[in-house]
Amino acid sequence: MIVTLSFDVEHDCPPYLTTTRGMEEGLPRILDLLAEKRVKATFFFTAEMARRFPDLVKRVVDEGHELGSHNYNHERLDRLSRKEGEKAIRKSLEVLRQYDDVLSFRAPNLQLPDYYYPILEENGVLVDSSKATYKGYRGGVRLFGGVLEVPASTTSSVIRLPWRIQRIIHARLSEPRVYFAHPWEFVPMQKESIRWDCRFNTGDKALELLGQLIDQYKKQKARFLMIREYYGKYGKA
Ligand SMILES: [Zn+2]
Repeated sequence: MIVTLSFDVEHDCPPYLTTTRGMEEGLPRILDLLAEKRVKATFFFTAEMARRFPDLVKRVVDEGHELGSHNYNHERLDRLSRKEGEKAIRKSLEVLRQYDDVLSFRAPNLQLPDYYYPILEENGVLVDSSKATYKGYRGGVRLFGGVLEVPASTTSSVIRLPWRIQRIIHARLSEPRVYFAHPWEFVPMQKESIRWDCRFNTGDKALELLGQLIDQYKKQKARFLMIREYYGKYGKA
């Protein structure tokens, strides 16, 4: 069993809010939990969050996690011209590569038109994780030119569902199981005027459920892979 934990590190619940409680309170709690459980994950940062919270990027890298790009300031690539999109990707990589090698990318809102694969490749990205099985993508892990696609398996709110419900969903997912969440889900969002699915079980409960998910997979002797590690396994050597 292969499992991936990934986090899209951005301001709180884009495009609804502009606050950064997830950065201040959520991300440190995620990192504490992963350290306690001895599990490595991939953190797709927007360059804007990296610029504003450099100590958190350093912590991610120092603790052995993978740093990936989530574009510059959460611009949706399907809403930009190809040229503007390329510029945003390039600028984001430039900022993030001041901290570590960046080989992986996830497009905001998981919207990556296929013509971006060659652009990612030209910019040194080896693995993309912007397609989603729950959004209808059925290609599995495969190469698009030189870029390996590792699709996300479920939407992020699944891992905040009551355990008795989410365990049924997990059991039906094909492998590899690639989960993602956001730092802002680990601070209480119940009082914000945002979509209901962005609010329920946020805060302590989300952290508890993430811990439960990790424990469950550890019990099953799952292997936790960071996104870049798929390249050696499925992509070109
Ligand atoms: Zn995002």
